[in-house]
Amino acid sequence: MRRLSCCHRPMSSLEKDSHALLNIAQPSSTVAVIGAGIAGSSVALALCKLGVQVHLYDSASGPAAGASGNWVGAFHPHITRGDSPLSQLTRLGFDYTLRALEDLTDKGLLETGVDWDTPGHLQTVPAEEADRMRETLELLNFPHTLVRWAQPNELLPTALGGLYFPQGGWVKPARWVEANLQACGELLHTHYNSKVTDITPLQAQYSAVVVCVAENALELAPIPGARANTVKGQISKLRCPVKPGVVLSGESYAIAPAADDWLVLGATYERPVLHMNPTAEADALNMGRFKAAFPELPLGEFLDHRCAVRSVWHDRLPAIGPVPNRPGLFMSTGFGSRGLLWAALGGAIVAGHCMGQPLESKLLGKITPRAAKA
Ligand SMILES: Cc1cc2nc3c(=O)[nH]c(=O)nc-3n(C[C@H](O)[C@H](O)[C@H](O)COP(=O)(O)OP(=O)(O)OC[C@H]3O[C@@H](n4cnc5c(N)ncnc54)[C@H](O)[C@@H]3O)c2cc1C
Repeated sequence: MRRLSCCHRPMSSLEKDSHALLNIAQPSSTVAVIGAGIAGSSVALALCKLGVQVHLYDSASGPAAGASGNWVGAFHPHITRGDSPLSQLTRLGFDYTLRALEDLTDKGLLETGVDWDTPGHLQTVPAEEADRMRETLELLNFPHTLVRWAQPNELLPTALGGLYFPQGGWVKPARWVEANLQACGELLHTHYNSKVTDITPLQAQYSAVVVCVAENALELAPIPGARANTVKGQISKLRCPVKPGVVLSGESYAIAPAADDWLVLGATYERPVLHMNPTAEADALNMGRFKAAFPELPLGEFLDHRCAVRSVWHDRLPAIGPVPNRPGLFMSTGFGSRGLLWAALGGAIVAGHCMGQPLESKLLGKITPRAAKA
């Protein structure tokens, strides 16, 4: 068994016991990461930045084969009346995402306006919920640089008001994955066409193993009592005669990157997952929602569609950190519909654990891989 460590002082038996109890790995210098989507590539980059050799495994023939292969996705914080842990975590995730994208842009691996941007995000709110949402915003009293109320027709021709996030943005997840992997440099070793069915041999070979395989995570790293659902989603790509200018969600999700001539509408939520084929019904649903919310914005010809699945844990929070009672085993998964908010944060959390210096707080404790409450 190879247990590499960059710790120069031998550990006392008490330290060893407490590391095992807390499930904190010995500082790791060669780590296996399973899954080459935004979760796995973000973990890989966070580890490589700390000088760790990473072996990245994926069953597909290349990176971003799952949901992270979508053409584009949106990211913005989440607002709830009581400022729930989910909402607080989304603000943290949002900061990590922005920093990660800015860093990759500074390195010349991503281009603003082409691969990602922050044109602002309008989350429309149904008319009957508008008064309560405005009251919530007043109670929360967040700075307007984070979120403010937008009146109907203020940003776009629509009868709907909504939450406007001036820094809200979009990113092409497959480009983000590619940039993460490029930024890893020579410390990264990729193993594509390598489906992992049992992590035991990897645990024997590497000092830590990180499971980032979305809907398959609990198969590879079972946690008694944990529950995750798989939810299919379809996005529809259309030619875009008029750009909305901001990212849209709420009654209709629409993203039109400035440099492209298309927009993406979405996304459906389909359970149980009967098959992974795109359907004309799902495209019609996506287009119907857009037309209902923005009747004056024209839609161009249909170009393409894509389906993928989301992995949603019982409480809709991600599962990031050490797997209980399995020393040296970690996961970054359960991203649901907010993978673009969780990936970079997940990378930082898991890398901290692998190096024996975990980021810890009551809030982060909420997303430690966990069983559902009975
Ligand atoms: C239709 C749709 C729209 C979405 N829109 C948004 C959005 O606007 N904003 C947002 O934040 N999020 C969005 N999401 C969610 C986001 O795309 C996901 O949360 C994110 O891509 C998940 O990343 P991941 O790396 O965890 O998983 P994936 O991208 O699914 O990657 C998992 C990888 O693991 C590999 N794998 C699986 N099993 C094994 C195995 N046994 N061995 C080896 N490799 C394996 C797969 O090949 C895959 O490459 C959307 C999702 C869908 C489906």
